[in-house]
Amino acid sequence: MAIKSRPGFEVNVDRTLKSTENKSVFYDVKPGTSHNLRFLPPSDPTGSLFFESAQHFNFTEEGQKRAWACLRIHGEEGADCPICKLVEAAKESGDDRFEKIIKNHAVSYRWHAQVLPLPREDKPVEQLYVVGLSKQTAQKVSNIMKMERDNRQPLITDPDKGQAVNITRNDKSGLQTRYEVQATGLRIPLDEIYAKWTDEFLNVQEAVGLRIVDADRLEKSILETVGNSNVKALLG
Ligand SMILES: [Zn+2]
Repeated sequence: MAIKSRPGFEVNVDRTLKSTENKSVFYDVKPGTSHNLRFLPPSDPTGSLFFESAQHFNFTEEGQKRAWACLRIHGEEGADCPICKLVEAAKESGDDRFEKIIKNHAVSYRWHAQVLPLPREDKPVEQLYVVGLSKQTAQKVSNIMKMERDNRQPLITDPDKGQAVNITRNDKSGLQTRYEVQATGLRIPLDEIYAKWTDEFLNVQEAVGLRIVDADRLEKSILETVGNSNVKALLG
């Protein structure tokens, strides 16, 4: 008796896994890790290497996780930011109950740039990334460029002759987080790391994808995230 043919194809496990993995554009520098990064030239016509963002994290909107752009920085000129007002009220209260609000939602500044990690044997480079650095860390990167310019060396952003920058994070988090930044002297052309970089070159500002919304929408999200009673206690 012939075996009846059954519908469907053989499952491809690798393909299936790939379809559900979290492929983020953001390059994650976890505690206790060290990374050799090649900085790409800026995508901003001003030539500034970093796009500076100011965001409030850990909010929800109708159950969805949200990070909101700070309206004082990214809103229209003169706009106030209800989240900053809430955090300021929490600080002024000096009340321990509101410490979590400060910790979770205070404005967070990040200096973003486009990078490629140097390939490692176990991890080929398959995409471009955006790294978000603290101000101090970004300053250290800027200082390397200044030193290079002063010494008439190729800049770290030179696609062919630029050197990789090592960024090492200590194993702490929160306020104890520290980053070491060092010029490595490893000069590797971007083409050798990831040949498609010219086709896939990102606009860093767009890639960061700030959510700039009006104050009403922020206020609703504040209520949902922080709760009515906390908002009443802090803002009346
Ligand atoms: Zn704000």
